[in-house]
Amino acid sequence: MSSDRTYLKDKKRIVIKIGSSSIMHAQTGRMNLEQIEKLVRAVSDIANSGKEVILVSSGAIPVGTHAAGLKDRPSTKAQKQACAAIGQAHLMMVYQKLFAEYQHTVAQILMTKYTMIEDRSRRNARSTFNELLSMGVIPIVNENDTVATDEIEFGDNDTLSAIVTALVGGDLLILLSDVDGLYSDNPRENPEARYIDTVDVITDEIIAMGKGAGSKVGTGGMSTKIAAARIATDSGADMVIAASEDLSVISRILKADHVGTLFKAHKNRNFHLIDYLSGGCSE
Ligand code: GLU
Repeated sequence: MSSDRTYLKDKKRIVIKIGSSSIMHAQTGRMNLEQIEKLVRAVSDIANSGKEVILVSSGAIPVGTHAAGLKDRPSTKAQKQACAAIGQAHLMMVYQKLFAEYQHTVAQILMTKYTMIEDRSRRNARSTFNELLSMGVIPIVNENDTVATDEIEFGDNDTLSAIVTALVGGDLLILLSDVDGLYSDNPRENPEARYIDTVDVITDEIIAMGKGAGSKVGTGGMSTKIAAARIATDSGADMVIAASEDLSVISRILKADHVGTLFKAHKNRNFHLIDYLSGGCSE
């Protein structure tokens, strides 16, 4: 069932999440500069149109892995965290350079679950986002992989981007990855898999679809995207899952074209961000 998306044109505070697989060459594990340039151009243009935009970008660990000269993915936690430290700086250098070409200033915000759980640091993080956005700066967010331990890591940027959306009162979250939306089953294995255009309510049936329809690379599969959709939509934001292959998809979403699966916002009056961080969630 497809519904009218015209209202997406009026979104004001937009969070865009891009996964590692969308900005890296699969064969070499190096940055896909053409993709990154297209992303930067699209994000800059949203900002130029007068909207506020936050970019959540993965990639620190794979970029750092290459920069450190490792042939294989880091195997130990310390190695992974060291790669993240190297890669995050590289990634920001490239973003800063490319955004500057379009006369945009960017800022880096690295977070862990602890940032969100602890009242004071959560409030601080919110004020910092608000201040940056009011300055016209584009915040670029990632998990602080260098210091995050198992207890305080989000683990995937799908969840992180939904949390950021809820934190800043964003009204649209766009998740870009290697899948073009939600299917009733894994479309790579089941030719009968049905494409889902719009999700009004995240039912058990939708959650079950997420388990079947996995995305093949990156940390977050379809299940984490649906979990992210739950956080975003409960907080009052719409969410779209779309393919990053052609990044003109970003402007098409904002022009209300029917691309990607739309999860409709349904503000939950009992929404408390903290409930989603400690595992449970209030209905
Ligand atoms: N924070 C990780 C990185 O920058 C990525 C996590 C994810 O892809 O979800 O490499």
